[in-house]
Amino acid sequence: MTTGSAVAAEAAQQDEFNPFEAMRLRFDVAATALGLEPGLRQVLSTPDRELTVAIPIERDSGALEVFKGYRVQHNTSRGPCKGGIRFAPDVNLNEVRALAAWMTWKCSIVNIPFGGAKGGVICDPRDMSRAELERLTRGYTLGIMDILGPDRDVPAPDMNTDENTMAWIMDTYSMHVRRTTTAIVTGKPISIGGSRGRREATGRGVMIACREALKKLGLRPEDTRVVVQGSGNVGGVGAMLMHREGYSIVSMSDMYGTLHNANGLDVPAVLAHLQEKRRLEGYGEADYLKNSEQLLLDCDVLVPAATENQITSANADKIRCKLVVEGANGPTTAAADSILEDRGIVVVPDILANAGGVTVSYFEWVQDRAGYFWTEEIVNSRLEQIMVSAFQDVDAAAEKHGASMRIGSYILAVDRVAQVYRLRSQHAS
Ligand code: GLU
Repeated sequence: MTTGSAVAAEAAQQDEFNPFEAMRLRFDVAATALGLEPGLRQVLSTPDRELTVAIPIERDSGALEVFKGYRVQHNTSRGPCKGGIRFAPDVNLNEVRALAAWMTWKCSIVNIPFGGAKGGVICDPRDMSRAELERLTRGYTLGIMDILGPDRDVPAPDMNTDENTMAWIMDTYSMHVRRTTTAIVTGKPISIGGSRGRREATGRGVMIACREALKKLGLRPEDTRVVVQGSGNVGGVGAMLMHREGYSIVSMSDMYGTLHNANGLDVPAVLAHLQEKRRLEGYGEADYLKNSEQLLLDCDVLVPAATENQITSANADKIRCKLVVEGANGPTTAAADSILEDRGIVVVPDILANAGGVTVSYFEWVQDRAGYFWTEEIVNSRLEQIMVSAFQDVDAAAEKHGASMRIGSYILAVDRVAQVYRLRSQHAS
């Protein structure tokens, strides 16, 4: 039998792990600091639209199975909705809602003309063939097609989706509107309207955000030990780029386990091993640890680049770094924020640190609409400019309000969206 206090503790923990609550808690602090009017407060903390679709798919066995998919559009004040689509067994509406809101704030921070959305399909992509994934992607696209469009809502990759998924979305949409519409989705293969530099963009943005934060702390990349949680499109690319900049990457992980070498990993060799074996385990030049041990390793910078709810009230007091740079969305719970802040650990928040991906998605959308494609140098230098000024804007907002960078990032983001809302509102004076 569970006691009353155990139930209360469990409820508190469930709230801690509800990403939409985590978003709302930070939003509320920022809204109060800005003196946001109560009506606008309600508008900006409520998603504009939530669509749930059933996706019947024929499995390779011939059996028919129905999957469930979501698309949540959080806010369109600043422009069409933008945001990725994830495929995972634990996708749920509160998560998709939070991720959609984070997209609104992220686009606002890097000052690109989009609102926020997110999509997800409950499925286990590891159990599905490529043909099944294609049918699922096409079925999902048809299910949400009424609310998509280059001027309405533009999806992109997220967890367990990639450029192939985006090509199928582009094709399905184009067939139904009877014209090739490359700007319907970003993160596509370059040969069908993708942007140079998009695949690396989130990792590159993480590297730039980390460098700017280190400057503030008076640290140099050459003297900095980094632990990277995750080795996918954000963690793997981020680790590689940081390795090239001279950082010592002392640990990387995948969903099965963690590599650790206090003298620094040979990141290209680790990634080559991962590519060949599909997992990090078995890489020789490092210890192999349990994932629960990774976040507690001694380092200067911790880059959580895997998933939500990793730094929590249960481990935030044991983390041993000076700086956290959030590559994933929502890796730190709101309860952990205050523990890290009390301990003087600086957090470069997700909606700033991982905004490089959507920034180059914006470049892709612009290039598709213009039909004119940029060099990788141009993409990277424009990304660099945007990330550096976004960092400075967040930092300035945090300083002005005497707040952490987390709260500073929400203050900046919410203020920009609120200003546009007021300008477009019929009640504006
Ligand atoms: N899924 C990525 C994110 O969370 C990219 C979104 C996009 O490019 O639209 O930021």
